[in-house]
Amino acid sequence: MNRRDFLKKSALAAGVVAGSVAVSSAVKPIEVEAKGFGVKEHKGKTIYDVVEMNDEFGPFYWKDTIFSRKSDPVKSNFFAKINAPKEHEGFDHNLFNYALAQGSNLSNGDTTLFYKFRKGQPNSVDGKPHKFKDKKEASYYIKRAAKFYKATDVGIAPYDANFMYVENIEEFKELGFKPKSIVVMCVLMNHDILKLYPTLAGMSGAWLGYSNMAEIAGKLGVFISELGYSSYAGGNEWGMAVPLAISAGLGEGSRMGTLIHPELGTGFRIVKVFTELELEYDSPITFGVEDFCNNCKKCADNCPSGAIYKVGKAYADGSNISTRKGIKKWATNSEKCYEYWGEVGNDCGRCITVCPYFKNNTWVHKLSKVVASTPGVNNVARYMDDMFGYGKLPTEDTYKKFWENIEI
Ligand code: SF4
Ligand code: SF4
Repeated sequence: MNRRDFLKKSALAAGVVAGSVAVSSAVKPIEVEAKGFGVKEHKGKTIYDVVEMNDEFGPFYWKDTIFSRKSDPVKSNFFAKINAPKEHEGFDHNLFNYALAQGSNLSNGDTTLFYKFRKGQPNSVDGKPHKFKDKKEASYYIKRAAKFYKATDVGIAPYDANFMYVENIEEFKELGFKPKSIVVMCVLMNHDILKLYPTLAGMSGAWLGYSNMAEIAGKLGVFISELGYSSYAGGNEWGMAVPLAISAGLGEGSRMGTLIHPELGTGFRIVKVFTELELEYDSPITFGVEDFCNNCKKCADNCPSGAIYKVGKAYADGSNISTRKGIKKWATNSEKCYEYWGEVGNDCGRCITVCPYFKNNTWVHKLSKVVASTPGVNNVARYMDDMFGYGKLPTEDTYKKFWENIEI
């Protein structure tokens, strides 16, 4: 888009917003709190106050998630194809991009490459764990250490067995490990490469994110254990990332099933470090995602497999064992999603990149965020997003820009 077009569209967008505000008599004042514009922090509340659950909420197994159903006929096609070098020509499927993805995939989120469980190490002076003044001081240093190791954002949740896979709880028991706190971290991915989804080229973004999260969690785990407190660094298979991140005050669940963060949007991964160290817990936040997703549906419109539904939040009926029962949410059809991955031979994150929350922090993004946080006019943000041309399928030009934007 040239500058003239851009300014014309911006003026039009501003007019649309102003017009909508004028006609909406239901607009309420926007809450401005410490966490940022339009973000409401629910101090003293827990995930049970912001997410609806019913009596069907019960234990859930890692073996039932779509990621671990490798022997399932629905999924085996994907796992067979994803590990085979692509021979097709073009920017999306070639050996070159396969090589880039493999390089990105050094740990594939497997924290054992660094440390997984590490017992609290005896202090060389008196053999006791480091004594913090209080939980607040402990959290101050743990959060800053996480940022030092390159977490993009960090929050702290209480340990809650309800959001662990049954297999995790068993392993903690075997280790004699009693976690009390969970340090939940967001790790930003490269947005330029994610824009290449649903092609093989896009896959390097997610895979590099997995390697980075394993490294960051491994380092933080060692830091905590050297202070004398046992720690366990966990990737996707270790605790349910989205509810734990909601508990840790990092964002809200969305229609496409992932977490939306008020600043980072959608293009990041989540990793956790479990520890016996007692920390100060964060509170859940809301910033209008529920309202926004109710109107937007852009991910559902653009999902190539039809795995994202356009209906409202609901309780799962049990027809797909990978969707947990007893939580009112926007459930996606992970079987359809993986069937598509199998068809194309690489993973896909198109839902993440078409979402209006997926943006670098440009002024357009900031304006969209203001609109998204404003009850009564937030449906305008999707309109603005489409108008600015966000979320189009990648082209050769998108691919060139990815390489050009890497600073050397
Ligand atoms: S990853 Fe792709 S196929 Fe799966 S839900 Fe998202 S857009 Fe749909
Ligand atoms: S694309 Fe729209 S409906 Fe889908 S998660 Fe993003 S904001 Fe929600």
